[in-house]
Amino acid sequence: MNTPEISVVVPAFNESANLEPLVSRLLSGLRSLSCMCEILIINDGSTDATLKATAALESQHPEVRAIHFSRNFGKEAALAAGMDAAIGRATIFMDADLQHPPELVQQMVLAWRRGAQVVNAVKRRRSAEPLLYRWCAKLFNHSMSTALRSNMAGASDYKLLDRSVIQALLECPERVRFFRGMVAWVGFRQERLEFDVPD
Ligand code: UDP
Ligand code: MG
Repeated sequence: MNTPEISVVVPAFNESANLEPLVSRLLSGLRSLSCMCEILIINDGSTDATLKATAALESQHPEVRAIHFSRNFGKEAALAAGMDAAIGRATIFMDADLQHPPELVQQMVLAWRRGAQVVNAVKRRRSAEPLLYRWCAKLFNHSMSTALRSNMAGASDYKLLDRSVIQALLECPERVRFFRGMVAWVGFRQERLEFDVPD
């Protein structure tokens, strides 16, 4: 296969029902940009029908490839495996549960084609979350902003990273990574795009 312009890395833990709509919405957005792409689904030890759903998608779409973990290792490990496996000139990282609207990939790719090396999707409106969760997220983002000297309010793992950024992150020796913190820290030309989080 020729090098795809865009890789999409999707960590998935028990997301069987969401994968088909996610892939079809992603492919229609990327095809409208004439983008050659690969979609890597990282199955993080799911116990539902995710294995079957990924097999169906792989046979239907040559762009889709699944990597299966032997057990549940957590989202950060799934993101790290995706970063190792992706070969695109840029890679988009996004959740499988449709809380990261797939239509935003078009604006992300256009921002990258204009010269951005990191495109951060930032939460404008959070989904309906319990007050305590919301408060803890705010406190966490505030402490992280201070530590990283970067504004982490509304930060999400929905991001596009240019190949050069992926290379820099892969050269970091950390084995346990905090993806969104490391991207905020690593530098490069960064842009932000706002989105509302569906419930
Ligand atoms: N996820 C994963 N491993 C886990 C937990 C979650 O790969 O152990 C995936 C999940 O399938 C989803 C993304 O990580 O695609 C975000 O998870 P979740 O929706 O639970 O997080 P939240 O929306 O609360 O940030
Ligand atoms: Mg979610």
